Amino acid sequence: MSENNLTTAGGHPVSENQHSLTAGARGPVLTQDSHLIEKLAHFNRERVPERVVHAKGSGAYGTFTVTHDITKYTRAKVFRKVGKKTDVFLRFSTVVGEKGSADTERDPRGFAVKFYTEDGIWDVVGNNTPVFFERDPLKFPDFIHSQKRDPKTGYKNPRRMWDYWSKAPEALHQMTILFSDRGIPDGYRFMNGYGSHTFGLWNDAGERFWVKFHFKSDQGIKCLPGEEAAKIAGEDPDYAGRDLFEAIERKEFPKWNLKIQIMPEKEAETFAFNPFDLTKVWPHQDYPLIDVGVLELNRNPENYFAEVEQAAFSPSNLPPGISASPDKMLQARMFAYPDAQRYRIGTNYQALPVNRPSNGVINYQRDGSLRFDGNLAEQDNYEPNGFGGPVQDPSAKEPPLRISGDADRYDAHEGNDDYSQAGALYSILSEDEKDRLTTTIAGTMQTIPRELAMKNIAHFKKCDLDYGNRIEKKL
Ligand code: NDP
Repeated sequence: MSENNLTTAGGHPVSENQHSLTAGARGPVLTQDSHLIEKLAHFNRERVPERVVHAKGSGAYGTFTVTHDITKYTRAKVFRKVGKKTDVFLRFSTVVGEKGSADTERDPRGFAVKFYTEDGIWDVVGNNTPVFFERDPLKFPDFIHSQKRDPKTGYKNPRRMWDYWSKAPEALHQMTILFSDRGIPDGYRFMNGYGSHTFGLWNDAGERFWVKFHFKSDQGIKCLPGEEAAKIAGEDPDYAGRDLFEAIERKEFPKWNLKIQIMPEKEAETFAFNPFDLTKVWPHQDYPLIDVGVLELNRNPENYFAEVEQAAFSPSNLPPGISASPDKMLQARMFAYPDAQRYRIGTNYQALPVNRPSNGVINYQRDGSLRFDGNLAEQDNYEPNGFGGPVQDPSAKEPPLRISGDADRYDAHEGNDDYSQAGALYSILSEDEKDRLTTTIAGTMQTIPRELAMKNIAHFKKCDLDYGNRIEKKL
């Protein structure tokens, strides 16, 4: 048998791969053709459940290089010194569409970066937008249902989207980005990425700072006009993935400049609004961008399923020096993302090559389906352990975070302003951009009941009177 001979999954040489074993030339196939049975059975099981959101994606490997010293804010080893390089994997995606959907849909784009740091994986699981439609995770499944397919007809229905939005003014800020030119990026290279949530940084002295992460495209921003995007959706639905892959093959390595905004821990208590509200940005004027480093993508995956489909990200992957914040959406995603991967790929998903930390894993977790890595061999599997088992490292302890308040269900709308930041964004758009934005919104309202359109327009008028008036006029 040569190295190029076909085998079954059990390693047996396959003598015939074109003709099934049958009883006579015209006869039925025999169950003893175990090669045929295995081939069909494995084919039936080729798909893992697709992600409910961010199903369609593309990814690549690269390097993050520190260009500026931020060690006064964080002890994270990834930022330890200028010039330090860390391997990364970045998965881009659309959000609402299924795995076969078009890359040029009007939709936010996922921007999920996995840093293989010396202290374990750091995942920044962000989007190409600095904000999100919701601030409370209890609303997330309903919001996504409203954007996805109608349970009766199986197709998308603008009435459902606008009905939901009419009752969710916190979404106006993100909706303004979605319906602006940036709602359809021209591929993945020409858009920014944002960590979106507020995270924590903590330094060697145990001081905590709140932080926002911004990845600014070095290629600049390029967007597709709606008509062109629709045409591409029909002709080349894999447009963005292809563009990324081919650019890297041509050695045109895309880059993003990582910048941060920093808020000292105490300032969060007195800031003008809740700095942990995912529907709001921190104005640059109050918290200017600070340079950190450069992320470059320079290597394509060898196998799409193994490396892109099985790539599993979670905002809970935080090495010492970087921490969570009280952001309610972040807290929920820290549960939901690993939960989704355990369901989708299996309990040992973190041992797969694309997800595995480069610094190694040593713990007391064992077994589980598809344990393929030696299962930590003879090393003991309980603690406290008197025979040299691994022990905790108190030096990795995050400084305590003071939290207080009555357990209750709080309506964030009380004393809250859902309109000003959407209005602020509208006001920085050029005349042409305002024109396209309002035309796009009015276009998606064409088929919905007039009363529902007017409810939404009333919200847009509260952001900026001109914004709402233009939509109304175009409708
Ligand atoms: P600034 O004038 O300092 O910053 C405006 C930001 O808006 C820039 O980062 C720019 O990104 C970005 N921008 C421009 N056009 C669009 C668009 N169509 N969609 C999304 N972002 C766009 O203003 P402020 O910090 O005071 O914020 C004003 C508004 O700008 C906010 O309400 C928010 O909507 C938006 N914005 C703010 C960000 C922040 O972190 N402060 C980040 C991104 C948007 P670029 O430099 O890449 O062109």
